[in-house]
Order: sequence, then structure tokens, then C-alpha cells
Amino acid sequence: MSEVLLEIQDLKKHFKVRGGLLRKGGTVRAVDGVSFSIAAGETFALVGESGCGKTTIAKMVLMLEAPTDGAIRFAGRDIREGTAADHKAYRRQAQAVFQDPYASLNPRLRVRTIIAEPLLAHGVGDSEAIKGRVKELLDIVGLPATAADLFPHEFSGGQRQRVAIARALALNPRFMVLDEPISALDVSIRAQILNLLADIQEEFALTYLIIAHDLALVEHFSTRVGVMYLGSMVETGPTAEVFARPSHPYTQALLASVPRPDPDHRPPLDMIRGEIASALAPPPGCKFHPRCPKAFAPCPVEIPAAHATGQDHHATCHLLRT
Ligand code: SF4
Repeated sequence: MSEVLLEIQDLKKHFKVRGGLLRKGGTVRAVDGVSFSIAAGETFALVGESGCGKTTIAKMVLMLEAPTDGAIRFAGRDIREGTAADHKAYRRQAQAVFQDPYASLNPRLRVRTIIAEPLLAHGVGDSEAIKGRVKELLDIVGLPATAADLFPHEFSGGQRQRVAIARALALNPRFMVLDEPISALDVSIRAQILNLLADIQEEFALTYLIIAHDLALVEHFSTRVGVMYLGSMVETGPTAEVFARPSHPYTQALLASVPRPDPDHRPPLDMIRGEIASALAPPPGCKFHPRCPKAFAPCPVEIPAAHATGQDHHATCHLLRT
């Protein structure tokens, strides 16, 4: 197994919310004790319904939000420890590509300035070197050198995402968060952007944390997967193994809801009953129990532990107790 590059240990993010006329106050447990690790060079996918906490984890990994508790270690070092210079060095190594390239690119700046921004912010190179680096980055992402003179609105969605990828690559990062990187793009160009992300991963030895709700994309693109439900990790493992033999009833229900080309496959869409509960008042015991078709006596009262169900494959469910 390759070295662990990113290690998340018992990570928590709790928000206090004030009560009002129509709302009770309390603590939202957006991320509630999540642990996983990502080996150098792999692609780890976080999946789960909206509000499960995956985007909050990404923000904490990118130092856009501070954890309430727990640790995020990058190459063995807690990213929050050290000096401001250490934090800056980490930010240089950990970049991100977001869902909507139009929203993430300043519409008033030319592409040359957009791509050069991180180089200028980190004081990398003189103006000639930066000019050369911008040209090189445009070439890496498959755009002509003339693209440097244009504004974001002069590109298609796919081309804008290429610009965002060029900017994310500018500082030679080791790690990238890909937050729904293709979901805002036309279906016809999604494969091209995925191929580009796969090519640069290989060329620059990048490690990815991808957040996606498209399970077909996760199956195709990631090497390991973590399934989240209401702020907790319910299953982790190699993607091929989890998709072939999902162990947690929530993962089983999620995968069963994916449309398959097989005309005889009838996804049991009613398998996940009801709505996801509020992170302000999560159900006791197993948080999934009000919706779980397999719930039994201990589920509403005891929090399930993680059990190994295969090589590097774990799930938190009372059914897996031996
Ligand atoms: Fe379902 Fe119980 Fe397992 Fe939770 S612990 S997933 S409620 S069977």
C-alpha cells in the first residue's frame, strides 16, 4: 500500500443555531466523528445525499472552515498546527476544482490573470516566468495560448472548467479536492473533463478527494469510496468491492437506486423510506434506523460500531456483529 497522504481522524464540525419563533435552537452535527485516509496517488470518493456532511469535510480539508474537533493530517502533519508559513505551504499543495466553473472564475479578469493569481499570491517566479507558466498550463489542459487573452464568458462550460483546472495546477499541488467537477457541464463533454483529470493525475502524481452524487461516475473514477449518512461514515472500502458487495443497508439502497442498462432491473426506489433526518436532531442509536428496511431491536438504542466486511472494507451496522 502507498504512503498515506491525507488522514482524517474523528473529525467533527458542529454549528450552534439559535432558536426562533418557528425553530428550536441547538447544535447541528454536520460532521460527527468521521475517520478515513487517502493513500498517495489514489482517488477517494465521498458520496451520500445532500446534507450528509461531505462538502463540510472538503471545506475543512481545504482550511476554509475550522473543525470543532478531530485531526486532519497531511503527509503526517496536522494541517492546523505550525506557523502561518506552514499553513501557506499546505494551501499550496492542496488545491480544488469546484462544480461551477463560471462561479469560481472572476468574470472581470482575463484567463492569463486568473491562472497567474495563485503564482502571484505565493510569490512564485517573475513576470516572464509566470507568462511562460500560464502558456504551459493552458497547453496541459488542452487550450491554445490565445485563450490567455480572453475572459471566462468567451468560453464554453467545458473550456471554463479547463481554465479552473489549469489554475488549480499552477502551484504543482500534490492533492486536489474535486467538488462535483462535472455535474454542471453538458453530458457530451463530461467524459473529456474526466479524461483530463485522469491524465493530469497520472502525469503529476496527484491524489484526489472527489465529492460526487453521480454513483456511475464514482464507480468509474474512484479507487476507494466512503459513504456518508447524516454526518457519519457508514461504509468505506475499495470502490469495486463496495459496488459489488455493499455491506450497509444505506449503501445497498443507494446503489439499488442507480439506473442500470439491464431492462429487467427494477430499482426498488421505495427502499429508502422517508426523508433524511435533520442533523439538528439526529435519530438515536443508528441514525439510519427510521429509514432502514432491516432495522431490528438494537438499532434505535445502540450506536453501531464499524465492522470489517472484507479487505480494507468496513461498515457500521449491527447486522455485521459476529
Ligand atoms: Fe439498519 Fe440497524 Fe444496520 Fe442501522 S444498524 S443500518 S438500522 S440494520
